[in-house]
Amino acid sequence: MTEIKLTVQAPTLVNRDFVKPTLCGPGPCDVWPSVNEALTKPVISPICDEHFYVLDDIRAGLKYVFQTNCDTVLALSGSGHGGMETVINNLVGPGETLLVAKRGFWCERALEMAKRYGINTITTTVPMNETFSLQQLENELRKHRPTALFIVHGDSSTGIVQNLKSVGELCQRYGTLLLVDTVVSLVGVPFFMDDWKIDAVYTSTQKAFSGPAGISPVAFSDRALNKINNRTHQPPFYFDVKLLSQQWNCYGSTRVYHHTLSSPLLWALRQCLQEVIKETLPRSWARHAATTKHFLKRVEQLSLKTFVPKPEDRLMTVTTVVLPKGYDYLQFSKYMREKYNILIFPGIGQTVGKTLRIGLMGVNSTIQVADAVADAVAGTLIALKKSSL
Ligand code: PMP
Repeated sequence: MTEIKLTVQAPTLVNRDFVKPTLCGPGPCDVWPSVNEALTKPVISPICDEHFYVLDDIRAGLKYVFQTNCDTVLALSGSGHGGMETVINNLVGPGETLLVAKRGFWCERALEMAKRYGINTITTTVPMNETFSLQQLENELRKHRPTALFIVHGDSSTGIVQNLKSVGELCQRYGTLLLVDTVVSLVGVPFFMDDWKIDAVYTSTQKAFSGPAGISPVAFSDRALNKINNRTHQPPFYFDVKLLSQQWNCYGSTRVYHHTLSSPLLWALRQCLQEVIKETLPRSWARHAATTKHFLKRVEQLSLKTFVPKPEDRLMTVTTVVLPKGYDYLQFSKYMREKYNILIFPGIGQTVGKTLRIGLMGVNSTIQVADAVADAVAGTLIALKKSSL
């Protein structure tokens, strides 16, 4: 063999074994054992029948978890941010107006994305640990008549769940489309796309679904589809729902190639959906509520305060906890990992230095895990009190 001179030599990639922590941050969370297995199923070509059968199964499961009978339901390649990009750029064109109900970190992301697409953005805000009232949203809709309203259902940066009942009706009255982030709420918290008249929704698989990140379910109402079919702007090719819905055979016999979807992720999503179907949505919602309420009780017994004052505003997947004065949130989270091998997160964006973010969702939404985390929080409070206060 003639000698080939490489300009870059092969690196040494060392094995990086580590003891997996219990993933109790705001995501990702641990995966179902059955999903781990599904990830090793064979790769399938994006143009063969087996592949399209899997897409059909996933679409049926997604209609159930979104509670929608709409046809434009699919999953796109990418994490939750991909879903955010997709709902925004398919429905709001350059020069059109997006009203963002701004609280927490994820709305900042939506604003940043919208600005990059040349969309006019306007915001309405509330304090970090409160929700939006219908009156406040209506005032803004009446004043601006925006093309769309973007709102987060479950906010993992603050631990808030936004009541969405009647928001869709309100939007329809003002000719506005309603775009909703359910990344950290779907499957863990009740959500009804059709009943709540939501026009576009996205979620991700690494939270209450208990799957791996990288494939994001999205759904669009018929009103949203009408906009997609009549819009004059072109969204990015990779995220164009007009094209993706052909690949996913949303309306009939259009099984075409758009891009190569990741087979392991398709199998994993299909399995996540099977787990939800087996448990049923109402039972999954009840389990998340029971676990988080139990955890909140344990937290209160430690004389800790929750960041969200009103019980009805508390998200049942991610809990935000305020530490007594003198504790450092980052140090607290690091100690929990080092001593107990439990991963929790400090705040993000506006909530930095204000709260811990603890996720009990998916496979980790059990009383046993809630107790393990509460015991570790209690131990960490004592340990860091001695050493740092
Ligand atoms: N929205 C919310 C509410 C989230 O919690 C997250 C991720 N933590 C995202 C969007 C972004 O999702 P991803 O990291 O999967 O891109």
